[in-house]
Amino acid sequence: MKCIYCDEDYFSGSDLFHSYMTRDPLCKRCREKLILDPVIIKVKEMEVRSYYLYEENLRDLLIQYKECYDEALKDVFFYPFKYDILFRYYDRVIITVPSSKTKLKERGFDHMRSMVDHIALKKLDALEKIEDISQTHKSESQRKEMLGNIKVKDGVVLPHKILLVDDVLTSGSSLLGAYRVLCDRDVKVLSLSHNSAHSLKKHVKVVL
Ligand SMILES: [Zn+2]
Repeated sequence: MKCIYCDEDYFSGSDLFHSYMTRDPLCKRCREKLILDPVIIKVKEMEVRSYYLYEENLRDLLIQYKECYDEALKDVFFYPFKYDILFRYYDRVIITVPSSKTKLKERGFDHMRSMVDHIALKKLDALEKIEDISQTHKSESQRKEMLGNIKVKDGVVLPHKILLVDDVLTSGSSLLGAYRVLCDRDVKVLSLSHNSAHSLKKHVKVVL
């Protein structure tokens, strides 16, 4: 059996716990390269729980998945946290931050939606990016709704309790845009990872 990512023998360098108990799709070597840094990060009025530090190993894994269209990797990202997410947010519906329509077409899959597939919570495909729409003639309230270039899809009825999920927190602007679009609901926010600028600040470290 080979590792889904590095293509080397899954069991070499592993141990019984990793191989048989966690059933992690990544081999132990690949998993240990990712840097766990659980924090809660505040971006304006939004609080984001994040698990990994976004550094070169995670970046390469995400590139392989998102830009090389290696959809088989979809479960590896949130795999170690799937029970933490389930217990913490058991009564919420997952809504993911949308990609642009161009990216969705290029990839042929919604990388964020696929990434949360294996988490046993309900999911709702509720948001979309607004593209090529002039804001010149929009009213103030319509402009507010378009913050972050994200809107609720036509006809979607939002649930009351939402878990908003994204993959990387850098400036936080796209997550904040999505968060504000959903602001009349009870929204918790989760990001797979955050960059080192967030890590260096004194944010609350959390225990998984
Ligand atoms: Zn591996």
